[in-house]
Amino acid sequence: MKNVVLIGIGLIGGSMVKDLKKLHPETTIIGVDKNPDHINQALASQLIDEKGDINVVKQADVVILSIPVDASVKMLPEILDLIQDDALVIDVGSTKQDICKAVEQHPNRRNYLAAHPIAGTEFSGPQAAINDLFRGKTNIICDVEKTAFKLQEKALSIFADLGMRIRYMNPESHDKHIAYVSHLSHISSFMLGKTVIEKERNERDIFDMAGSGFASTVRLAKSSPDMWTPIFKQNKSNVIETLEEYITNLNQFKKLLELDDFEAIFNEMKNTNRIKDILKGIA
Ligand code: NAP
Repeated sequence: MKNVVLIGIGLIGGSMVKDLKKLHPETTIIGVDKNPDHINQALASQLIDEKGDINVVKQADVVILSIPVDASVKMLPEILDLIQDDALVIDVGSTKQDICKAVEQHPNRRNYLAAHPIAGTEFSGPQAAINDLFRGKTNIICDVEKTAFKLQEKALSIFADLGMRIRYMNPESHDKHIAYVSHLSHISSFMLGKTVIEKERNERDIFDMAGSGFASTVRLAKSSPDMWTPIFKQNKSNVIETLEEYITNLNQFKKLLELDDFEAIFNEMKNTNRIKDILKGIA
């Protein structure tokens, strides 16, 4: 792996190249980003070795595309137009249906591998990049059979370097399931944050009372709207379905409180405690 081109020098792509550079110091990391400050920060911190524009993909062995999902859908076909015959292009976006569809008929479709590493923090930009972000985490690969076999092997060896476990799925299933376990959690955190901020306008003391439960539940509300708006746009129908189910549960809980049915409230929480076993070894 001589040249790795990273498009989008932020949390996810930045963390990937940080680990790859540590393991393969001989590899040159070339960074492309629309934000000149991020390029300068990444050069200064040696996260990347060189900067470039879209045309550097012509000399890439591996391209990692790590920008908001709406921008990826537009840029991926342009990248596939430019690359060498044996180059591997990996995208790490949080939605998979639109991007897989966008290059379905592209003559170089076999150079592309659709991935979604299930790892992250609420921070963004090159300074958010950390080592070992992906160790022990799951990476979902979609439509693997559409990628050339040799390039599948190359991608798997990169993911093994990062310490990731692999799951295979089709893009439709990915987007449906991820709406529940990721997209709904973000909406619920954003709206919890909103509810409390609105209350705080009248009662300035409220944040003095906020404990670690509030902080951990609202952590995701620090996430970047630039990244999340296109995710909700692309996965709108699945997200609406999850929200309808969530709102039904919230209304049901409210109704039980109004009815003073504390036995039912107890049972609701007791049943949901099963999440401890379900998440054992994950969180
Ligand atoms: P990030 O930290 O904000 O990094 C993205 C970088 O790309 C920023 O420097 C951004 O600049 C730049 N950028 C935006 N649009 C661009 C464009 N059209 N061309 C070139 N550069 C562009 O984002 P991230 O959290 O790493 O997310 C990257 C991808 O990973 C997204 O597709 C996301 O869905 C996926 N993902 C994220 C997570 C997570 O938890 N964060 C987890 C798994 C997958 P500006 O900041 O100036 O816009």
